[in-house]
Parts: sequence; structure tokens; C-alpha cells
Amino acid sequence: MTSNPTNPPELKIVPKEGDGNAPEPALPAASTELIRRHVTDDNICILTFDRPDSTANIFDQATMLELNAHLNVIACNSHLKGLVITSAKRSIFIAGADLTALAGAKTAEDLRNMIELGQSVFNRIAALNIPTVAVIHGACVGGGYEICLACDHRIASSDKSTKIGLPETMLGIIPAWGGSTRLPRLIGLPKALDIILGGKTLAAKPALKCGMIDDIVPREYLVERACKKILKEGLRLRKRKRPLMHALTGNALAASLISRKVEKQVLRKTRGHYPAVHKALEVVTDGLSLSIDESLALERDAILELGHTEACRNLIRIFFLQERAKKLTGVPGDEKVKVAPVRRIAVVGAGVMGAGIAQWASSRDLGVVLRDINQEAVAKGLAGIAKLYEQGVKRFALTKVEARAGLDRIAPAATDVPLTNADIVIEAAVEKMDLKKQLFAKLDELAGPRTILATNTSALSISEIGAATKHPERVVGIHFFNPVHKMQLVEVIVGRQTSPDVVRRAVKFVQQIGKLPVVCKDSPGFLVNRILMPYLIEAGWLFERGARVEDVDECMLDFGMPMGPLRLIDEVGLDVCNHVATDLASKFSDRMQSPGVLGKMIADKLLGKKSGKGFYLHGGKGEESDVNPDIDRYHHDASCANLSREDLRGRMVLLMVNEAARCLEEGVVAEAADVDFGMIMGTGFAPFLGGPLRFADFTGIPQIVDEMKQFASKGELRFTPCNLLQSMAASGKKFYEH
Ligand code: NAD
Repeated sequence: MTSNPTNPPELKIVPKEGDGNAPEPALPAASTELIRRHVTDDNICILTFDRPDSTANIFDQATMLELNAHLNVIACNSHLKGLVITSAKRSIFIAGADLTALAGAKTAEDLRNMIELGQSVFNRIAALNIPTVAVIHGACVGGGYEICLACDHRIASSDKSTKIGLPETMLGIIPAWGGSTRLPRLIGLPKALDIILGGKTLAAKPALKCGMIDDIVPREYLVERACKKILKEGLRLRKRKRPLMHALTGNALAASLISRKVEKQVLRKTRGHYPAVHKALEVVTDGLSLSIDESLALERDAILELGHTEACRNLIRIFFLQERAKKLTGVPGDEKVKVAPVRRIAVVGAGVMGAGIAQWASSRDLGVVLRDINQEAVAKGLAGIAKLYEQGVKRFALTKVEARAGLDRIAPAATDVPLTNADIVIEAAVEKMDLKKQLFAKLDELAGPRTILATNTSALSISEIGAATKHPERVVGIHFFNPVHKMQLVEVIVGRQTSPDVVRRAVKFVQQIGKLPVVCKDSPGFLVNRILMPYLIEAGWLFERGARVEDVDECMLDFGMPMGPLRLIDEVGLDVCNHVATDLASKFSDRMQSPGVLGKMIADKLLGKKSGKGFYLHGGKGEESDVNPDIDRYHHDASCANLSREDLRGRMVLLMVNEAARCLEEGVVAEAADVDFGMIMGTGFAPFLGGPLRFADFTGIPQIVDEMKQFASKGELRFTPCNLLQSMAASGKKFYEH
């Protein structure tokens, strides 16, 4: 990605034929660096995006200029009957704009140049006097879909890799290469707002249903179908009839009514932390009653406003951290070592996690042996898996045939079976050290000499489990989060004796099945639970001392967490939470103690969601007004009853930041970015803040240390800032060079 946003490109536009000074209409096939041009016998021009040495096409400056050059040639050839835009990549059409250039844009002028270039090139496609068809196979997002919007017709493959959408608001910006202007004109205002404000990406079927594409065909017939369409319909393809509904929702009055309604819903979700979502609402609705050019000007202005916000910087950073996780080796300096892909795994324990892991792995083409203690337990696991597949089909994540094939890849086992063929065994039985030790001693005998023995334990020592085997070098933690099909993060935990080869293979396996690894040292709670737990414990402690459930949860929602801590405890289960909290507290007794209220509520069978009652009432009702009406009797005293929401939030956040810094200090992970990445992906920690350490930088480490010391000086020793924070505050250092 080499585009240089500081030098505004000169866009050469060759005059159209018929202008009197047009060059010769010669249109040979041409292959430039990034886009190939080919003309069929029927005089249809095909532009194939094929970025060399890359699995993806992106829109950087060079690609835009090259596309513009092709358009120059196309515009001069009156014998052409149409244009088809396609990609040669296996699973990506065009993955959007070059985010490196966007993130590297130093001035408003750089941003403006970047946006203007894309808008003007796509405007040229929209203005061609031949029919244009985008042929989509694989990821077609952001700028990738905006070029399709500039075409007259869009045909997509039925493949599951085909994903179509405008995720820009997730990056703190808005679609500004015509997406915010053209999508509402294509599918109507309400649906366009749903896609753009939600930063949504849809599979081919729902994209067809909502009008984002016009047709779905198998990949092999895409180009053929596009050419036939052009030959059959010619310029009629351009004269699309606008559904009456679009006209109704598109007038200024209706648009403003819709906008006001949506604004309220959006505000409830974003709590004002995501300026791009609000800006997108404004641009899409205001732009609809303007001309295309005026609406494009709104898009440009919006990018200039949003591009340099802290939220945008942090959200783009998360994107890069995800990309980094996809390429991680787990063993520094090992980038060139080849690792054979995993073909077969075994999962031991078919409960919540085991079933989730087996389903996910089988859906990624792996053969899976699913083992549990008896037929009933295996059958229950399989039923759970079948349900997950059913939901996947409903979400269009896979077809019925793929779901059936996935299920068929799972071999149930209610007795010990040889596991010599398994590349990895993942143990997901109950969280008891003795049981896990026994299991691993057995698995060691059943497995082959190269089989990795992995545990999904939430908090038990990998080294201790490994010591129960004859091959501790083959034992590693592969910690999935619940629910497996939704959570992308997986912690790979390195035991004292885990070999580098096993770490490398474990990391590769996680990537192979489409998850994002973070490598952690074997230490209590690993990374995510370790940082999350002091926060949940503090929430319970504050409640115990009289703080209202609503205040504890609302203040953290205001901070940007996806769910309040007490509701999260209900979701996880008070028993599970208490178990992990007690376990961690035994390791970090200087600063952690599971709040007594959890034990009392558990004794009264208030386990949270699974028992229907906890801090909240569960069961059918909406999530908003269902605090358990009897919960106040679990207050121990009222010493925190009058704390403001700001005070409550301050306490909980400080403890998270302190534990995050400790993880770095102790080398649980290698870098501050790993801590932040883990917390955002594993807990949903306010993404626009960039993670707890980035938040600490932004707030000011000296201020954080001061606030903690104030609490500690009043006897609340759990607030004692760790050495790393104290030394950074003294030296003025930050976690990141900004
Ligand atoms: P679960 O209780 O839902 O399932 C455990 C399964 O293990 C049961 O089906 C049980 O029959 C089976 N089992 C027990 N002994 C066995 C044996 N000797 N051989 C084979 N199977 C055996 O538990 P879960 O929530 O799926 O948790 C499993 C593991 O994953 C635990 O170590 C837990 O700490 C960890 N984990 C859980 C979560 C979570 O949110 N539930 C998240 C991450 C990690």
C-alpha cells in the first residue's frame, strides 16, 4: 500500500468521442499493474481487479488512477456495448479503501484529495453512456461496494464468501465515495439508514432482498450473466424504475421525520460516543433531497470533520490490530516457518463450550470427534450443534447443504477412541483441576506423537495440567470465549513447558478457523478474565454497599461498555462468576475478594439468566426495565448509596486500567496493543476509547495514578497503583507513541 496522500493526483480525463478532438478509438486488451482490461467478441469491456501478490483488492491512489486511465480509454470507444467490473481474487471482490493512507493522512487537504479522487472516478462510471454491471464474488465492502453503486446493475455470487456492505461507521467515518448518496436512492431511506448507520455487511441473499444487489448466480456464471444482461437490455439497464416507496420516504419532510425517529434509537445505542453514526444520519437524510453533487459535497465535509477524531483513530487502529492478529505467528522471528493446516480435531466435553467449538470447527471443514462421558451427554451436545447450524442457515451464514455437511463431519464418541489421527485435542470438560489432570493423562495415551493437547480452561494453570502428562511440551491453552460462534478472540496460553512449535501450530489453527489469537503467558485468569474480574468484583461490592443496580450498570453503559457489569454477571451466571472471582482472589488476595453478595444470591438460587433471576428478572421481557424488584434486600449497608454515577464509574474503570497495566508489567502479553486488543475483542471494552491502556494514555497516566492514590490513602488498598503506572506517571511516559 504505497499511495501517498500528500500529493494530490492529477486526474487526467480524456475527452469523449464526438468532442472533436478524441483520440483513435482503439481498445486492445491491456494489463496494467492492478486492473486487467479485456474486450469480449460482443464488444463488452471487462475490467478485472487483480492486485499482484495479494489476496485482496483495495482502492489506493494507484488503483484509482489506473481505473481512471481505463475509463479514459473506455469513454473514447463508441463501439463498446457495456462494461463489466469484476475481480480475480478467490474470496474478495474489493475490500474497500486503503486504510493505511486514510490513517496516515496528515492534513485535511490529504483527506479531501483522497475523497475527491474516489468520488470523481466513481462519478465517471456513473456517467458512462454504456450500461455498467458489477459482478461481485467475495467481500465487497466500503469502497468496493461504492463502485458497485456507481454501476447500473449488480450481480453477486451465491458463495458464502460473498459479503456486501458499508462498514465505514465502524471505523469512525461514513461512506464518502458516493455510498451515503447512492444507497438511499437505490434502496430507499429506511433500509439505507439501517445498513449505513449499523455499518452492516450482508450475505448475498439478504442483500438481494433489500435491493443492494439485483441478482444472485453461481460464481462460474457471473460474468456470462452480466454480459447477457447487457446484450439483452442495453441502455434500458440504466433506466431503473424507482419504487413508489422510495419517492415517499425520499421527500424532505418524510426524510426529516424518519431521521428524527432514527436519531433517538441511535442515541440510545451510541450514547453519543460514535460521532460518525450521527453524521451519517445527517448526510444520508439531508443529501437525499439535494442533487448528487451537493450530496457528495456533504460526504466530503463529513470525512473532513470525522477523519481526525480520536474515535476514528481508535476504531481504525482496532481494524489494524485485527489484521495483525491474522498474521501473528506466536513465536517472534518465525514468520517464514510453514505450518501444516489442521484437518481433524477432537473435542472432549460436549457442553456449552465443547459443542460451540465442535460446531465452529466442523463448519470450517474440519473433521471433529466429539467425546463426552455418555450417550446422553453426547446427544445433548449434538442437539446444541444442530441448533447452532440451524441459526447459521437462518442468518445466511451458510446454506442448508453446508450445514448438513458440517454436522456430518462430527463423529460422536461416548467411550474412549484412539485420537492418533487428531491434529489437536481440545478439552472442554468441567472446570476442575483434578478432573483435567486425569483427562490429560488419558489423552496423552490416546493421542498421536504430534497431537497438540489443548485445554479450554478459563483460569486453571496450563503448566499444572501439562505436568500430568508425559509430554508437557505438547500442552497448551486454547481459550475460546462464550458464545463461540460470536466471539472472535481466542487466547493461546503458553505453559512453562509448551514448545514453540506447539504455540506456532496452535496460533495457526486459531487463524485457520477464522478466529483472532492473542498469545498469553500462563498466569491466573490469563489476560481477559484477569482484567475483567476486578471490575465485576467492584460492581458487586458497590451494589453490596448500597449502590443501585441501575446506577452501577448505566454508568458503565455511558462509559461505552456494551453491557453493564451486573447484567454481565447475570449473563455469565453468578455461580460461574463467583467461582472465577474466588479462584482469582486466592491468587491476588492483596486486592481481590469475591463480594459476599454473590454467595448469598447463589444460596437463594438467584444464578442470573440460567435460573431466570439474578440482579435482573429474565424471561421474555425487554432488557430495559427488568431489575429484580427484590434485589435491594441484598444490600449489606448503604455506604455507597449516594455515590454519583461518575464516582461509581471512576472506581470500576480505575481498577480495570490498573490490572491491565499489571498484565503488561508482568509480561502476561508482550505489548500494550495486545492488552487493548484482548479487552476490546474479549469484553467489548469501549472500542472508540481504544482499550484500557489507550484510555489511560488519553486521560493522562499521572491523573489516573493520583485518583487511585486518593482511594488508597483512605484505606481502599485495592486501588494502589501498580509500579508500572507509578513509574510512568513519574517519567511522563505513555503506553503508545501517538
Ligand atoms: P459444561 O458444564 O457446559 O460442559 C462440560 C461437559 O464436560 C459436560 O457435557 C460433561 O458431561 C463433560 N464432561 C465432564 N467430565 C468429562 C470427561 N471426563 N470426559 C468427557 N467429558 C466430560 O461446561 P462449559 O461451560 O462448556 O465449560 C467447559 C470448559 O470451558 C471449562 O473448563 C470452562 O471453564 C471453560 N470455559 C467456559 C466458558 C463459559 O462461558 N461457559 C467460557 C470459556 C471457557
